[in-house]
Amino acid sequence: MEQERTNRNCPLWGTETCARLNMRACRDCPAEGKDARECGYIRDDVDTLFSLLPEGGIASLFADEACSLCKGEEKGKRESYGLFDMGHADPRARKKKLSLFRNKTYGFVVPLQFGCCRACRRRFQLLSWTPMLVTILILGAALLIVAQEPVAQSLRNVWRGLPLLVMLLAAGLSFLASKVLTRTLRARFNERTYMDLRDHPLVQRMVSLDWESVVEGKYPQPVFTRKRLSYGVGTAVPAAAEEKSEEDGKISD
Ligand SMILES: [Zn+2]
Repeated sequence: MEQERTNRNCPLWGTETCARLNMRACRDCPAEGKDARECGYIRDDVDTLFSLLPEGGIASLFADEACSLCKGEEKGKRESYGLFDMGHADPRARKKKLSLFRNKTYGFVVPLQFGCCRACRRRFQLLSWTPMLVTILILGAALLIVAQEPVAQSLRNVWRGLPLLVMLLAAGLSFLASKVLTRTLRARFNERTYMDLRDHPLVQRMVSLDWESVVEGKYPQPVFTRKRLSYGVGTAVPAAAEEKSEEDGKISD
């Protein structure tokens, strides 16, 4: 990981705050060009943010080689990341916005990066495609049937609007079927994978510390990516863990 934190004149250079900010380069850093007093505010901000995180931090989600979304003892091998932002209302409600990692609605936002195995990611993808697949299948089948002239003719013989009614019924059916199938699949997948991230132990610990999902909806979805965010607050692997994985020769980015 090439880093360009070269500004040794910065009051924060080489400090724990610098490591926690984890910027790619000094020019990206909110402390760039700030005097000692302003840097003090930034340090306080970072300290506050980290004091609000669960004990042990959030790096284990992405630093472990094992999937963090698998349930049970046997875990798949991490091959991608599910990104999921969580926000915390600013406990001090300071008016002045100081830095990049502050946010309008939330005082703080941190990205959770769930290391994810192939099987878990497939389950999320399949579930998100289910409504569309079911709709295409059912509506497509209904259309194929109704579009056949003998069928359409016999339907029209009963009532002129019947072919259209059949299509409307098929649309209703596909809506219901996709609901039922989604629910069934979710329940089945949920035995193996944390399909609802709010059930994840770390998310639950964060919720108990007044963090909440920034993503809205009944089942807030992670965004999957092959490469994780390596820079920014909450993306650093603590030094102790990093040494350990370096020993193993397994640093992946
Ligand atoms: Zn998994």
